Amino acid sequence: MIVCESLSDLRQARATLANPLGLVPTMGYLHQGHLSLVERARQECSCVAASIFVNPSQFGPQEDLAAYPRDLPRDLAMLETAGVDLVWTPSPQAMYPTSYQTWVTVERVSSGLEGERRPGHFRGVATIVTKLFHAFQPQRAYFGQKDAQQAVVIRRLAADLDFPVEVVVCPTVRESDGLALSSRNAYLDPAERQAATVLYRALRAAELAYASGERDAGRLRQTMGHVLAQEPLARVQYVSAADPGSLDEIHSAAEHALLSMAVFIGKTRLIDNLVVGDELTGPSRRL
Ligand code: AMP
Repeated sequence: MIVCESLSDLRQARATLANPLGLVPTMGYLHQGHLSLVERARQECSCVAASIFVNPSQFGPQEDLAAYPRDLPRDLAMLETAGVDLVWTPSPQAMYPTSYQTWVTVERVSSGLEGERRPGHFRGVATIVTKLFHAFQPQRAYFGQKDAQQAVVIRRLAADLDFPVEVVVCPTVRESDGLALSSRNAYLDPAERQAATVLYRALRAAELAYASGERDAGRLRQTMGHVLAQEPLARVQYVSAADPGSLDEIHSAAEHALLSMAVFIGKTRLIDNLVVGDELTGPSRRL
């Protein structure tokens, strides 16, 4: 496995790799969710590359950039075992020198849900993904359904800027009790870890209601809200039933819905989602 820090080394190493190249962008502190993207890329591509970069521009001023968990030696060992060919670990200074002033903004699909509660977040995501696409020139790029809005934003970005990249969205990997794997789960103490299962329980309750014929989006949101309200450690930021393509809130889930939420468990902000109706990415995978 080749590990590069500078862009020039990365470009040289990339030129030696066969196409199609699959890219897995990450912020590190890897878990089985990240590795599921690598596995999928391995199946579909001749070579696999990954990036590890905690992207400062996608964190708000009150967010957890400094505290974000990091363990580069462990991450590199995991990627090597998973069969990755090339890893880029750029420094924030190299990515954003002091003279930096170019930003990529994807408009409508960035505006609601996470974008509304984390102003500037998707500008940071779209900008870094654009820079990664330019640097790696991948034929495919792998993202998790766990970050559903991010996947929609990146699909839009790739289409609008004519990147010859297929954006592949992979199912959410969950613990056996349903909690979606996330680097931020490391912040949870044992009581919070137990409480964090409430996100998936709320999503499942709405999914069950949908399976029993409920198509009123307001009532699906209510169902999730009722389950979340029963958990004393949970503070709900939003609960949504939206169109999976446009991400607009819907009145009727006649065809399908992206059910999603952001919930604070203590100080830790967790997100999760499920698609009901015409599943876009297939069922979630449990560990
Ligand atoms: P992050 O390091 O959090 O930026 O995540 C890097 C990539 O891994 C993103 O495309 C995420 O959507 C994806 N990812 C994170 N958690 C999971 C999970 N539990 N299952 C599947 N993909 C995930």
